[in-house]
Amino acid sequence: MTETIDLARLFTETEWELLCDRCGLCCLYKIDDYETGEYLLTRVACPFLDTQCGNCTSYSERFEKMPTCARISPHAIDLARFWMPKHCAYRCIYERRPLPAWHPLFTAPERNQTEERLLAKIARLVKTEHAVPLIEAEEVLSIRQNAVKPNPNQKLDYQLIGNVIEAPLI
Ligand code: SF4
Ligand code: SF4
Repeated sequence: MTETIDLARLFTETEWELLCDRCGLCCLYKIDDYETGEYLLTRVACPFLDTQCGNCTSYSERFEKMPTCARISPHAIDLARFWMPKHCAYRCIYERRPLPAWHPLFTAPERNQTEERLLAKIARLVKTEHAVPLIEAEEVLSIRQNAVKPNPNQKLDYQLIGNVIEAPLI
């Protein structure tokens, strides 16, 4: 069992934001299968997701505009991690696993002091020697860029069922 760490005390707000790699996968609709307990990822994207760059186009107003948008706070990770992709830094940190090698914190040409400090904190947290297999950056990009926006003229349930991604991302 993962030892509890106080993420809110450990990371500043700026550091917390830097942990997100903007993959956008948490902004794709998911199906919560009550029978199997599985979370299935779909290719249907939130209407506010910019599928090219992975940013939210209404970030400051996201909770007003999208009632189902989830706040990824340090206090919410213990529950949110069940539906977040395995490569997501928030989930990796909670589960004490290394971040994917392609995370922007590692691949940026230069790092500032904040990023260096953040990396040092992450390195101290990692306890798992062997990481679970993580999705590659190219696949993340392909899933996000091929995502579709919901069609308001069709029942959302059917659109989600028809767009389940079978790769074991979550
Ligand atoms: S899944 Fe994680 S890394 Fe990807 S956009 Fe969501 S919070 Fe950021
Ligand atoms: S509103 Fe929420 S779910 Fe939609 S794109 Fe923005 S952050 Fe993602």
